[in-house]
Amino acid sequence: MKMLVTGGAGFIGSAVVRYIIKNTTNSVVNLDKLTYAGNVESLNSVAGDPRYVFEKVDICDQVELDRIFSQYQPDVVMHLAAESHVDRSITGPADFIQTNIVGTYTLLESARRYWMQLDKERKAIFRFHHISTDEVYGDLPHPDEVAADTELPRFRESTSYCPSSPYSASKASSDHLVRAWLRTYGLPVIVTNCSNNYGPYHFPEKLIPLVILNALEGKPLPIYGKGDQVRDWLYVEDHACALYKVITEGKIGETYNIGGHNEKKNIEVVKTICDIMDELAPMHDRGYPVNTSHSSLITYVSDRPGHDRRYAIDASKMNRELNWQPLETFETGLRKTVEWYLTNQEWCKHVQDGSYQRERLGI
Ligand code: NAD
Repeated sequence: MKMLVTGGAGFIGSAVVRYIIKNTTNSVVNLDKLTYAGNVESLNSVAGDPRYVFEKVDICDQVELDRIFSQYQPDVVMHLAAESHVDRSITGPADFIQTNIVGTYTLLESARRYWMQLDKERKAIFRFHHISTDEVYGDLPHPDEVAADTELPRFRESTSYCPSSPYSASKASSDHLVRAWLRTYGLPVIVTNCSNNYGPYHFPEKLIPLVILNALEGKPLPIYGKGDQVRDWLYVEDHACALYKVITEGKIGETYNIGGHNEKKNIEVVKTICDIMDELAPMHDRGYPVNTSHSSLITYVSDRPGHDRRYAIDASKMNRELNWQPLETFETGLRKTVEWYLTNQEWCKHVQDGSYQRERLGI
């Protein structure tokens, strides 16, 4: 198969591209605008492979998208290109509306024109896989707010949409557009909604890499509000594997929720990172007094406006219908992630081109 991956230079997209090139015989066309979040260095391990091509294209550019479809004749599309950081969407929502909504619409239309002229056999194979987030569902009851013996709900595929931030609202809009293109035009689409990812090649504005890098430099580790927000963490390579299962085995018109069964409060995540850092990169090796812990850097800051309290995914459909389950536990995945950041300082330096200094956004 020839797979067109949008946003393949980003965090999850690059994991998907590496997964396909390393584990399958398929070829990949990676279409990415290379915003601040896209970095071709994340693809060094596959860049020389004859089954891999990179195209610097904006998904809002109709003419260029038409050229890509006509030139490469892809069998499937995996659409990950997006503006993805909630704090940035609070500071400046315009790019989120443009890329996530207008860009997805433009890609859908280009894909539809291409799909309509395919022969019957190739038309039947074609899939448009839209990769989305669990944040479209809004938030869930928090363990601190309900009686101890209450079973806490999780997001199911049938959960109603109730997005809270400009980011999640723009993703919700794009999900609706994608489903409408199936219902109205018959375009064969599949949607996945996934929980928070973590792992290698994550841009350092997101909680886990930000905390690792700040800890290494002895800078404050910012905790929003009380740090009691709950997220359901999934190792990025488990997500890439799940997405490949969905594009190859998923059913047209279906939604699949993908999650890691790892509900953690943000403060727990940060303290666990500090423990791993204390072991792997003790502060006294960098001139601090003996027994200083990275947790001494934890600093509580004002909460994010509209901050969702809890996300949690019911991924039982992925398990039941596609026989998928994550391989990493939070403990093994987080250790791998810390180790990766400690040994890939060059990547971290290169992706921070000077325009972002890990400052607080979205207040
Ligand atoms: P990311 O910000 O790391 O990467 C996004 C990529 O899209 C970048 O390479 C960027 O250059 C590219 N891009 C942005 N605007 C573009 C445009 N107009 N045209 C072409 N390319 C453009 O994001 P990510 O964390 O890898 O997320 C990928 C997708 O998965 C997004 O759609 C996101 O909503 C979704 N998602 C992310 C998470 C998560 O925890 N990171 C969880 C669930 C779903």
